[in-house]
Amino acid sequence: MTATVTELALTATLIFLVAVGFIVKWQLRIRSTAHAVSWCETAIVVGLAVAPVPLVVLCTGLGVGIALAIKSLPRMKAAFAIAKNMLVAGTAGIVLHLFGWQWPPPDLPALLIPLGVAYGVAVVLDELLTLPVIALDTHTKLRRLFKDGWGLRLASALVRYVLIVGALTILVADQLLLVAIPPLILCIHLAHAGQARARAEQQAWQRLARATDALNVVDLDAVLSTSVVQAAELFSTDRVEVELNDPARLVQGNNDGVRYDGLPGAAPANGVRTVIDAPLAGPDNESTIGTLRLCFTGTIRFSEREKYTLRTFASALCTAVRNATAYQQLIEVADRNAQAAAQDSLTGLANRRRLMEHGTELLGQRHADGITALLLIDLNHFKEINDTLGHAAGDTVLRQVAQRLSDSSQAGDLVARLGGDEFAVLLTTLPAPAIATHRADTLLTAICEPMELDGMRIRVEASGGIAVAPSNGGMPELLRRADVAMYQAKRSGSRIATYTRSGDTADVGRLALGGDLPRAVAQHEFSVSFQPIVDLGSGEVIAAEALARWQHPDRGRLDPRRFLETIERSGLLPAFVDAVLDQSLIAAATWAEAGFALPVAVNLSPRSLLDPRFPSAVLARLRAHDIPADRLILELTETLTISQLEVVDHVLGQLRDAGVRLALDDFGTGYSSLSVLARIPVHELKIARSFVMTMEGSTEAVAVIRSTVDLGRSLGLTVVAAGVESEPQRQALWALGCVAGQGHLFARPMPAHRLLAALQCGSSGRPGTLANPIHSEGAVIHLAQSRRVSSRTRSERVPHLPA
Ligand code: C2E
Ligand code: CA
Repeated sequence: MTATVTELALTATLIFLVAVGFIVKWQLRIRSTAHAVSWCETAIVVGLAVAPVPLVVLCTGLGVGIALAIKSLPRMKAAFAIAKNMLVAGTAGIVLHLFGWQWPPPDLPALLIPLGVAYGVAVVLDELLTLPVIALDTHTKLRRLFKDGWGLRLASALVRYVLIVGALTILVADQLLLVAIPPLILCIHLAHAGQARARAEQQAWQRLARATDALNVVDLDAVLSTSVVQAAELFSTDRVEVELNDPARLVQGNNDGVRYDGLPGAAPANGVRTVIDAPLAGPDNESTIGTLRLCFTGTIRFSEREKYTLRTFASALCTAVRNATAYQQLIEVADRNAQAAAQDSLTGLANRRRLMEHGTELLGQRHADGITALLLIDLNHFKEINDTLGHAAGDTVLRQVAQRLSDSSQAGDLVARLGGDEFAVLLTTLPAPAIATHRADTLLTAICEPMELDGMRIRVEASGGIAVAPSNGGMPELLRRADVAMYQAKRSGSRIATYTRSGDTADVGRLALGGDLPRAVAQHEFSVSFQPIVDLGSGEVIAAEALARWQHPDRGRLDPRRFLETIERSGLLPAFVDAVLDQSLIAAATWAEAGFALPVAVNLSPRSLLDPRFPSAVLARLRAHDIPADRLILELTETLTISQLEVVDHVLGQLRDAGVRLALDDFGTGYSSLSVLARIPVHELKIARSFVMTMEGSTEAVAVIRSTVDLGRSLGLTVVAAGVESEPQRQALWALGCVAGQGHLFARPMPAHRLLAALQCGSSGRPGTLANPIHSEGAVIHLAQSRRVSSRTRSERVPHLPA
């Protein structure tokens, strides 16, 4: 009977101890699930020491069951807790008895060792069964759960073991003392829980400090991704969201990293139950720049400490976001400044500085692929467009040219605008130097395609100079050489020229000429030579062309090709035109006085035609020198750039109406001679020297001359052949129907008084003539084959002119 009462008391005590041990625990929250570390195993091991294993297992099940009933936990959790603790109890009991456990133990080692091992097994088994379930439930890494506070857990296990040993030692001494154990355990628990809380608190602050430290980065993306990971760790959340207001952006993620980064509306749907948010306050503390949201799949309430931690973290995040935004803006400003320093603002192309830097870098590369060359491009007559159509139109042309150059350049090339109407293309990876000309030709052809401008179709012409690297002196020298080549191109009338050393010295001189111009105009250093224009049949002089010369004090006599371009570019053109016109009309007046009433032909720069006051200036000069208007011939070149401009029509109309004669110079060399002719009502066509000089070997040259003569005849225009150097050329031109010519055959350009003397002297004693009549010569010229082809075939082969 007494034994039964004792057993019942023991059973009840065991059930009570397990239940209390299960209920008294310290809590640990992982994400939205709270986890507890209980005294259960302590009670179980004490039970196993004094009672049979099956009884302890039974009491464990009952004790945990009662405790769970009191706490009304979900069934699944309750079933797991009961099963787990019974398994722990059974296993620890078996381990204890494997050591041959006896109660009471004979000595201290017989108590310490088996109990230590059994308790150790109980603790480890408990962890092995609990932690994977927590890991699954909270989506936390198992390793992290094992690592988390392992020191604290080990210490607490040791404390419990000491307690178990203490309690059992008391029991051995006097069983009644057992009643003193629960209060003792409670005291120890409270002390232990307090210590654990303090430690947890300390760790929490350390984590907060680490998390805010981690936010200390300047890249906004890094700030946001770090904040998500850190907040997820710090608050053990299922998900963290950081939403920024301006620009609208939402970053979502967890402690594994960012899962979504984009517009708030497009974020994936969430299955969260609790959201705890903290505003990210703006600099004025009144507005917010965004929100930090901690999301949990379960229901959760934050402790005061956690709330405070959240506010601190949000404030650190806000500062980090503001710093990163400011830094980003700073970088953007710096980028923009760097870009502006390297970019031409009008066209978006690289500027001179960028070209020089890039070129220097490229030339410095020892093993660069292929050959590098620089193409310098200068638009012809661009200033006229600017002057007449306005700067907006000029800008449009520059932008279109830039676009065409970019479109036609190859990968690796650098297209730059050097200023004004000057462009450059750094041609890279050329397999051979000769390819540079080919590439340059492609680029210039692209520029010269007609373009629409305010409803007008205009064509921009350009000249290009090529210099091939390497050159000593790096990019500055390469640029200088390309510049020299470009002026060689302009001077020779070809579209592209490649730098040659032989052509260099003269051009360096030409570049320096610009500075001497104002003095030349002021001190009348310009003179005019006159070349007679002769009736090819009779040899009679019918006019004279005025050709400007510059008597330079240091360089001697300079011919116009070397200084005209510079004059046209400077503001000195009107003064120069006045000087030439004055000297030409004075000469005409002198000849007329001597009985030779010859018209004088003056060459005009296209830019003069853009000046609406030009006609009245010319007419004033005519009146001043008392020369009839029809004794002045103005020679115009076909500059297609300006041919469609109203001002040109107006200027030429006024001159023509006043009686001034107009001649179209270098006819046949332009792109659309006929369309120019349709617009500009000229009296005379001058066949370009190049056709006359090549007519002996070129069927095309003959065809052009023949067509021009035919055209002149049908329109009633005088046709003058330039550059007649030989008698056979004269004969051939005469045979083709050309009635007038000028050239070295008759006379070279000469001062007015010498021409007068030549006129007075005459050829074969005939004043006013410079050659014998043609019928007396009987020279023969062998024209090229096409002379004998049918007119239909011939007309098909004529360039620029329709049949
Ligand atoms: P252009 O209008 O074609 O003038 C004829 C050029 O051919 C002159 O060269 C003349 O000396 C040269 N020439 C004449 N006959 C022959 C010949 O039989 N064989 C060869 N090889 N050459 C011959 P110049 O004087 O050097 O003038 C060059 C260009 O400069 C002129 O070409 C003209 O376009 C321009 N120019 C000359 N004076 C003036 C001027 O006062 N104003 C303007 N705007 N341009 C001028
Ligand atoms: Ca001329």
